[in-house]
Amino acid sequence: MISSPAQSDVEVNAYERDLADHLGVAHVVAVSSGTAALHTALYAVGVRPGDEVLVPALAVVMSAAPVRHLGAQPVFVDCNAEGTDFDYRDLEAKVTDRVRAVLPVHLWGRAGDTARMRSFAEQHDIAVVADCCQALGTTVDGIQVGTEATIGCYSTHKMKLLSTDEGGFLTTNDDECAARGRAYRSHWQTPPENELPLSRIAHNFRLAGPLAAIGRRELPRLEKLVQQRLDRASMLARLLSDLPQVLPAHVPTGQRWNHYSPLLHLHLDRPRAFCEHLAQQGVPNSTGTFRLIPLDQRPVFTRDTRPRCHAAAEFLDGILAVVLTRHDDQQRIREYAETIAREVTRWASN
Ligand SMILES: *Cc1c(COP(=O)(O)O)cnc(C)c1O
Repeated sequence: MISSPAQSDVEVNAYERDLADHLGVAHVVAVSSGTAALHTALYAVGVRPGDEVLVPALAVVMSAAPVRHLGAQPVFVDCNAEGTDFDYRDLEAKVTDRVRAVLPVHLWGRAGDTARMRSFAEQHDIAVVADCCQALGTTVDGIQVGTEATIGCYSTHKMKLLSTDEGGFLTTNDDECAARGRAYRSHWQTPPENELPLSRIAHNFRLAGPLAAIGRRELPRLEKLVQQRLDRASMLARLLSDLPQVLPAHVPTGQRWNHYSPLLHLHLDRPRAFCEHLAQQGVPNSTGTFRLIPLDQRPVFTRDTRPRCHAAAEFLDGILAVVLTRHDDQQRIREYAETIAREVTRWASN
């Protein structure tokens, strides 16, 4: 039973320790959402008003909103042809002396080249804040993606693999980042060493104790949940393997991609319209259901007048990213496959 504030701290502390052990990282700071994790992380690495943060165009609004909340400017960067990583030529070209951090977003759970990211950041003396909100369970050379970054940010919203209904956490091996993160999440009441309590303006981004208790209970099931997602994704790919118009995205070598969203390349006329049509036919997907477009095309971010990120736009227009949940059983996957196969054949003959 959780009855007092002190008791709820006990739950949060225990949850953080369990997560740190499970993920193989020095510090975990539990917060109220994935958005709060990104906001806290960006503050902890020193992002301040007037700074710039390099953000992929291939990302969701939640990835970039915390940058703007801190008074900094997201600078949108194009992606590689596979949509797994930055276009490094574009990334290098957008570095200025105001850039404080780079924010790789592991959309649909896929990781890019994390070693290259680190050396890029070291070379320019900037921090890496990784948006791993969809990438819990994705490993690169056996290591949870995001734990190699200055700070990794995760969501435990109910749509994510590990769920506390609402919640999030950040991971870091940097003692100072952890201390600043803990201070920031609770109005700087427990400040880093040599600082006074309440000496900075911060937030209440605390995770509620009962939600931490749920997270602790769920964590031992994480590996099973990832395995289930992998099974569903491979089943979908298998059921569609006869269709030449639909090809599963390949998994980069050395990576265990959690298949948060299975990705299918569409070789059809007007693929984005097809995804919208599929959404209406009951197959939820990123572009058709959630109208995902590159961040640099979003009106709320159009202060950025640089040329558009064309590779990101082209990639998104050609992909079917199927939205799965933990409740999707094999029957549901069969229904999705049947609908996709039927509608692809119709679309191709029109
Ligand atoms: C879910 C998500 C977020 C935000 O997480 P919340 O817990 O909903 O605040 C941020 N980035 C990505 C990529 C996400 O999928």
